Amino acid sequence: MRERIDHLIAEIDSIKAASLDEVEQLRLKYLSKKGLVSVLFDDFKSVPSEKKREVGQLLNDLKNKAQERFDQLKSEFGTREDAVVSHLDLTRPVDHMEPGTRHPLSIVRKQIIDIFGRIGFSVADGPEIEDDWHNFSALNFTADHPARDMQDTFFISENPEIMLRTHTSSAQIRTMETRKPPIRMIFPGRVLRNEAISARAHCIFHQVEGLYIDKHVSFADLKQTLMYFAKEMFGEHTKIRLRPSYFPFTEPSGEMDVSCNICGGVGCNICKHSGWVEILGCGMVDPNVLENCGIDSQIYTGFAFGMGIERITMLKYQIKDLRLFFENDVRFLRQFTGAF
Ligand SMILES: [Zn+2]
Repeated sequence: MRERIDHLIAEIDSIKAASLDEVEQLRLKYLSKKGLVSVLFDDFKSVPSEKKREVGQLLNDLKNKAQERFDQLKSEFGTREDAVVSHLDLTRPVDHMEPGTRHPLSIVRKQIIDIFGRIGFSVADGPEIEDDWHNFSALNFTADHPARDMQDTFFISENPEIMLRTHTSSAQIRTMETRKPPIRMIFPGRVLRNEAISARAHCIFHQVEGLYIDKHVSFADLKQTLMYFAKEMFGEHTKIRLRPSYFPFTEPSGEMDVSCNICGGVGCNICKHSGWVEILGCGMVDPNVLENCGIDSQIYTGFAFGMGIERITMLKYQIKDLRLFFENDVRFLRQFTGAF
């Protein structure tokens, strides 16, 4: 037994291999389950018990030495990763990466947030999947209110209480329910309506709504805020015009036009030769809406407004087809300010 062990040690010491594969073949020859070293362990059972301790020690030494030897041989050939690295050509020119551009809606959204941020409006948003209370009921739309028909809503068929929000006003309700006045916030977000897709309408679009609630907030504050926004957005010579309108959640309500920034008010295709373009709806928050959210309408008043980001972007960049915003055509997207 001892002789066989010594013989194997000498044999393993003198092993030479020409490749990593050969090292592996040799390792299997000695150390696999049926290998020459392993066979000795099987024979160990027949060693007389008084010699077992001594021979056992020798066998273990043999096994360790063999393992060390194969590890050493392997390291001489290097690891597989080294082999891959050696095939890399570090002098090759890098792949050219085009810097991206911001989406025009993102550019305008950020601009709107910046403008209102300068006069103290902070930003919030709410969930796109809403319940009836936040999307309609709290906003003064009663169950059979005809105003509900104004918006084609995506309802969930199993539960008509759940829907995709049709406006970001639901985020205003959530804010009024959880915060105490003064509240001065804007709510940019995505909204969904079941509308046929055309150059002027889409089932997805983006809104920014604004809300200011405090003691003694008046219609004059609303007008001044919107005038500031219009001048910052479209230029200091921009004029605004308010027309009476109707929304269930504001009273009185109005729609705001700005003087056409293309023709300067003289009349052109964009403004349909009127000199004015409509950009948003607004009004004083209906006292019922304040009460629905736990705000005392005897103490507090407020105004709200809402605009479509697509509409503002189309005016700003003279884009004539709404669908371009959602088609991801790089020839369109590349025309806007670089992201870096
Ligand atoms: Zn015009």
